[in-house]
Amino acid sequence: MRRHAQRWVTVIVFALAACSSRASGQSLEGETTSTTVGETTTSIAVTASSTTTVTAPAPTTTIVAGPPKVVVTPTGVVLPVLGVEDGGQLHVRTVCGGEASYSGAGKRYNRVQVVLDPGHGGFDPGAVQNGIRESDVNLDVALRTRAYLERAGIDVVLTREFDYYVPFVVRGELALNSNAALFVSIHHNSGRAPLISQPGTEVYYQQLDAKSRRLAGLLWEDVTAALRVHPIQWYGADDAGALFRQGRTGPDFYGVLRRTAGVPATLLEIAYLSNPTEAALVATEAFREESAAAIAHAIERYFNTDDQGAGFSGSRGAARVRTRSSGAGSTPVTLVTLSGS
Ligand SMILES: [Zn+2]
Repeated sequence: MRRHAQRWVTVIVFALAACSSRASGQSLEGETTSTTVGETTTSIAVTASSTTTVTAPAPTTTIVAGPPKVVVTPTGVVLPVLGVEDGGQLHVRTVCGGEASYSGAGKRYNRVQVVLDPGHGGFDPGAVQNGIRESDVNLDVALRTRAYLERAGIDVVLTREFDYYVPFVVRGELALNSNAALFVSIHHNSGRAPLISQPGTEVYYQQLDAKSRRLAGLLWEDVTAALRVHPIQWYGADDAGALFRQGRTGPDFYGVLRRTAGVPATLLEIAYLSNPTEAALVATEAFREESAAAIAHAIERYFNTDDQGAGFSGSRGAARVRTRSSGAGSTPVTLVTLSGS
């Protein structure tokens, strides 16, 4: 059994390298374009081979009763469980999007309420600016957020637990296959934006999902409230807030928001790594802890209150929609005009 598990782990590591090299030409947010606004996608500096040298977290062997939805291998690879085979092995989705049997050790989740998605990973570090790799701080904030939520009794899985690349389809399947109540993709922003006196936090929601919109408003409200205590000059786009973004043909631009359709999902850009002042804050554990506490608080409010959130600021993409909201509980006013941007 143990030898089988070790052999499987070897297969997983090989699969990671293969996925990375094959997928290295993909764009990293919208899957179909590399011209994203406020998100650097041209800084791929990590080679596929580096995915074989990451430090994995300590093995866990907790077994949860009932058919599992997700299994996390002893090396920290997170796999959606598609079913249980006659022999008792788990039928899983691999990190490359294939299918395989898995009978090794690992932590098995039979209930998933929240999926946290640390953006990027592996060959795709996201933004690399001012000495920070976005994929690293995304993971750190996600792990801290999970700790807060677990202390509140909420079942959480991450889409990755160390530094490897997870295709959008697998990230989405982790949410869909486990019937998660919500999905939050955690990112840090890059690019240029005007200097302003309040955080330029952006939270993208699924344009057709009212629950996703509410989740985005709650996240914006709590994250900006936490960040505002720092009296610095922030970067901020004029439409920063809770918003949606369409691709050229109409559906949501961001791959993780399309691939999770059916589960309320958001993509959070906490702060700008391209602003040296903000990057210096993100580099501190204290700031990442504050970010995590705020995300967890927003998620708890999503479950436990009727709060509607705030910061609804408009949209980007094919159909430009302006939504004004003065705060929680207000009735949004929506004006739709066409835009070629
Ligand atoms: Zn990102």
